[in-house]
Amino acid sequence: MRMIFIGPPGAGKGTQAARLVERFKIPHISTGDMFRAAVKAGTALGQQADEHMKGGRLVPDELTIAMLLERVAEPDARDGFMLDGFPRTVPQAEALDAALGKAGLKLDVVLVLEVPDDLIVERIVGRRSDPDTGRIYHLTFDPPPADIVDRLVHRKDDTEEACRTRLATYHGQTAPIIPFYEAQGLVRKVNGVGSADDVTARISAATLTALSARRQG
Ligand code: AMP
Repeated sequence: MRMIFIGPPGAGKGTQAARLVERFKIPHISTGDMFRAAVKAGTALGQQADEHMKGGRLVPDELTIAMLLERVAEPDARDGFMLDGFPRTVPQAEALDAALGKAGLKLDVVLVLEVPDDLIVERIVGRRSDPDTGRIYHLTFDPPPADIVDRLVHRKDDTEEACRTRLATYHGQTAPIIPFYEAQGLVRKVNGVGSADDVTARISAATLTALSARRQG
């Protein structure tokens, strides 16, 4: 299965994507995680990406597209993948479509996770991740155990200012890819408000419906 996960920053994509890939046995490809790994490793790509990421702006399309297309061409992604955080612009969506088309492949579903802006800022500013396990917590809504609090990481772009920039970028540059995929009949919108388990149940139902509709179509 080839799926794309779209949603504003802090909508819960990372948490939900981790659950879905376990269920569908596909690799979870997050361009944000790939850029953060490149920054940490101090590569040339990481240095270029870091400047954009710190301010909550998008990394330029040519860098992002090249990195992503190389990743989806790897053997573990041959039979399917979950893209989280890509595409984020119409040129990125077009580049992915062109590459898949060339390989004779198609997307199965584009999930759009919907969460209102006022909830997003609250979620993002309290978000912390555990570098040892990758688990994401929220200081108020999903508090971490006391013995691991000291090792938790607060992302540089999880400040209120960067969050507002990222939300504006989402509405201005990323939301326009939804009609692009709607025209292909691939979009399923899911309400991202509620407990993580409730949202997982909605996403699973939407994914299964999309898959059976595609098989019949
Ligand atoms: P994320 O973890 O998905 O929120 O991504 C963190 C940051 O990485 C974003 O705010 C961007 O600066 C950068 N980034 C991740 N994916 C993309 C993308 N598809 N296009 C451009 N920049 C990206």
